[in-house]
Amino acid sequence: MIQTERIVRRAKAMAGVQSMQETVSAVVMSGAGRPLELRRFPVPKARAGGAVLEMIASEVCGTDVHLHHGRLSGVPFPIIPGHVNCGRVLETGGALFDVEGRPIETGAVVTFYDVFGTCGACWYCLVARAGTRCPHRKVYGITTSAADGLLGGWAERIEILPGVRLVTLPEDVAPEDFMGGGCGLPTGFHAVERAGITLGDTVVVHPKAVPEGLEMLRDAGRYVVVGQYTDGGDTPVNPHRHINRRHATILGCWGYEFTHLHRALAMMARHKGRFAWRDLITREYALSDAGSALADMEKLSVVKAIMRARI
Ligand SMILES: [Zn+2]
Ligand SMILES: [Zn+2]
Repeated sequence: MIQTERIVRRAKAMAGVQSMQETVSAVVMSGAGRPLELRRFPVPKARAGGAVLEMIASEVCGTDVHLHHGRLSGVPFPIIPGHVNCGRVLETGGALFDVEGRPIETGAVVTFYDVFGTCGACWYCLVARAGTRCPHRKVYGITTSAADGLLGGWAERIEILPGVRLVTLPEDVAPEDFMGGGCGLPTGFHAVERAGITLGDTVVVHPKAVPEGLEMLRDAGRYVVVGQYTDGGDTPVNPHRHINRRHATILGCWGYEFTHLHRALAMMARHKGRFAWRDLITREYALSDAGSALADMEKLSVVKAIMRARI
């Protein structure tokens, strides 16, 4: 009798060990203002045309602070934050290729374009050619629910859905270099494109840019509002002085497209060594310390911060 109980207890303990191995940790933001939680999820399997990554690093972004304050609309809490990520391919659901037709093998160190679901069929996609405003667009770590899988980078594994484009990091670009550029670098590529900057132009950049920048704009200049992903309040604009008398062009710039991510990586690889991107990373945090990462980002005590599965 006692022997049987022992066997049953041991079997239960072993089942417990097994189920721990069959799960992975992820940080869950369950709602605005609620404490972050470390939850366990079933180990994901690659879907056909998709992949599973082992997370190497995930960005802690100002957007994550805004998410936690509930400043973005349409966020399907609970979510797993982390929209810019690097990972190692653990498994693919069939043969995968990058945009240049090169195979993406198991073990490759990759990033991915965090946007998916852009329909290619609506007015924004087809007529305005403004895919970042497509109403069907979804973004990893922002508009993906934790109920739908590991679709954010603050997790030990990241599920790559079919259709999400992977990009292999160039040989000379380490994950830390890529993460040093973070989402700001491809966003900058988009802003430069929107501004139509050409050789010989004079370009001015500042953080509290809107009121200050409009004052600095030259006659016939172009002004691109970039960032401002949440409502930071109104700013006074004098239509005569700031816009019309200057013959100014003012443009918005929402998110970035695959081309900007791709070109940002190519630029990093080409100018390797000229700029120490990784030096922008002020601190690394373990998943279990995600709350401190958000707090430090909010205080602006870090320039760039990254999440690791563990430290
Ligand atoms: Zn970001
Ligand atoms: Zn669309």
